[in-house]
Amino acid sequence: MAETFTFQAEIQQLLDILVHSLYTEREIFLRELVSNASDALNRVQFEQLTNRDILDADAELAIEIHVDEAANTLTISDTGIGMTHDDLVNNLGIIARSGAKAFIEAMKQSGSAAPSTDVIGQFGVGFYSVFMVADKVRVVSRSHLQDGQAFAWESTGGATYTIEPGERESRGTDVTVYLKEDAKEFASAWRVKDIIRKHSDYVAFPIYVGDEEEPTNKQQAIWRQDPKEISAEQYDDFYKMLTFDFEKPLRHIHMRADVPLQFYALLYIPSSTERGILSPRKEPGLKLYARKVLIQDYSKDLLPEYLQFVQGVVDSEDLPLNVSRESVQANRVMANLKKTLTSKVLSELKRMAQKDTAEYLKVYKAFSRFIKQGIAVSPMDRSDIEPLLYFQTTRGSAEDWASLEDYVGRLAANQEDIYYIIGDDYASGSRSPHLDAFRQRGIEVLYLVDPVDPVLLMGLPDFKGRKLRNVDEADIDLSAIGELKEETAPPRESLADDTFEALRGRFAEGLGERVRDVRASKTLTGSPARLISDEADPGRNMFRLNRLLDREVELPIKILELNPRHPLLHNLSGMVAANPENPLIDVVIQQVFETALLQEGLHPDPASMAERLTLLMQAATGSGLGEFHHRGTEDTEVG
Ligand code: ADP
Ligand code: MG
Repeated sequence: MAETFTFQAEIQQLLDILVHSLYTEREIFLRELVSNASDALNRVQFEQLTNRDILDADAELAIEIHVDEAANTLTISDTGIGMTHDDLVNNLGIIARSGAKAFIEAMKQSGSAAPSTDVIGQFGVGFYSVFMVADKVRVVSRSHLQDGQAFAWESTGGATYTIEPGERESRGTDVTVYLKEDAKEFASAWRVKDIIRKHSDYVAFPIYVGDEEEPTNKQQAIWRQDPKEISAEQYDDFYKMLTFDFEKPLRHIHMRADVPLQFYALLYIPSSTERGILSPRKEPGLKLYARKVLIQDYSKDLLPEYLQFVQGVVDSEDLPLNVSRESVQANRVMANLKKTLTSKVLSELKRMAQKDTAEYLKVYKAFSRFIKQGIAVSPMDRSDIEPLLYFQTTRGSAEDWASLEDYVGRLAANQEDIYYIIGDDYASGSRSPHLDAFRQRGIEVLYLVDPVDPVLLMGLPDFKGRKLRNVDEADIDLSAIGELKEETAPPRESLADDTFEALRGRFAEGLGERVRDVRASKTLTGSPARLISDEADPGRNMFRLNRLLDREVELPIKILELNPRHPLLHNLSGMVAANPENPLIDVVIQQVFETALLQEGLHPDPASMAERLTLLMQAATGSGLGEFHHRGTEDTEVG
């Protein structure tokens, strides 16, 4: 007798969305069902290699699709691994699948009950997508296990489904779709064939539609073909079928090797990371075949982690066919494959960077975080990764990216080191007071404005023997480097030593623990102050990354450098001389410091400056500090 089960809450939610969806590309449901059938065939094929004792060992591994226009139904049958009673409950009643899971998560996040329907296609919600076109679905399945019995699962897309003993003589699964009135179009053999050719042409098993003898799909192992015979369009199509990505890949790498290893590989660089996360490919990793038999859907042992954004297929002639999924990893062939594939991908990227920089930069912008991470975690690959690094610099605009090689090729006179500035983004970096002196001498500086750049620096202390140095280091001496540009306005005279010392004392006293020291700057021109670091500890750069990762972080305590030539400090010094009790002095000191913090991108709470700024404007417009005196100077602890 039929047992009734309740769907997991998440599935009910998903079904509710799908049943009422107005998604225009509903045809993808067929792609999902065929892909499940193909997975099931792969699995039974694999089972057959290790365990001969399966039901119907001789059945052809194939998919059949029958339409019944009169009944308005469509049935997809396979001779795959099949499902037991418990499999039906676990696979079609509970969500395990990350595509559907990610979809629900995204729905929750967007907070709307009615999602924009185009996301459905992007997520590839698997089996359940059938409810976009179905009033009712019946799955009859018989497991490959010898003593298996057939069961039928049935649901109308509501909160429940039923399972009862089913009718099926042989191993495999039939999925019968009772089409909605408005989905009649899918009960046409012609339409079905069209969809198969569009979405499932490369499925490795024959797909027969109706009573035709010829399979509708080509089933080619495209990666085994001669690259000369494959068009750009075919490469793109295969990629789309592999990843269900809507966008074309940026690049493909097709390899066929005979010695020392015999293998075929077809690798792709996707156009963006985002699709990767939402794609029905649940995890990173390459599809691994041994002589055309799928061994692993997500092999992570073929490329290092920092190249995980690469998608594709690897087919080895050297892996033993009966290798178990667990022991693949330990196989010696795998280590060699990984070495070969890694160096191929890296050299291909390098070639692209040199020959077609614009195209390469698309790859880099999408995946630089992976690539940079490579330097930190795989020091042995460092020299191969270095040519792949590009940065914006103080030369040109935000659109101009330079490699380290480019930078070194145009050093200023007497320049030994490579200079970089750390910042939150290009715009704020370019306004940093640290750049005053570099600009004045025509010395180029790299912008390291990605939060992971400090991690990169840990693995990249130098390039071709030249040190990478942060422009905020206290002891950088530029006096012999480059050429001093003529000033448009001659700098103001510097404050006299004792006058400056008195002012310095006021700053040190007023800022206390918030700074490590207060010093005179030799290099600042346009800015009154900046914050510098006196130790060359790369860890100090980790603040930004930690903040991004929401880790508890303490603000790094820095040295405040004051510009004795700046009008603001001249004015302030005059004020101190005239009346050291003037409350405005301390307000200005706090603001000079916090402005410098802000320019470093280190201010933890910029809005807290508003009150003080109002006060300063009030003073500037002539009414003095008056009653705001107390609040203005004392409530702005920042730390
Ligand atoms: P996914 O294919 O990503 O795992 P689906 O929602 O498409 O997710 O399918 C859910 C599960 O149902 C599959 O993982 C599989 O275990 C099972 N399944 C679906 N269709 C079949 C089939 N034709 N034969 C065997 N198992 C199937
Ligand atoms: Mg699926």
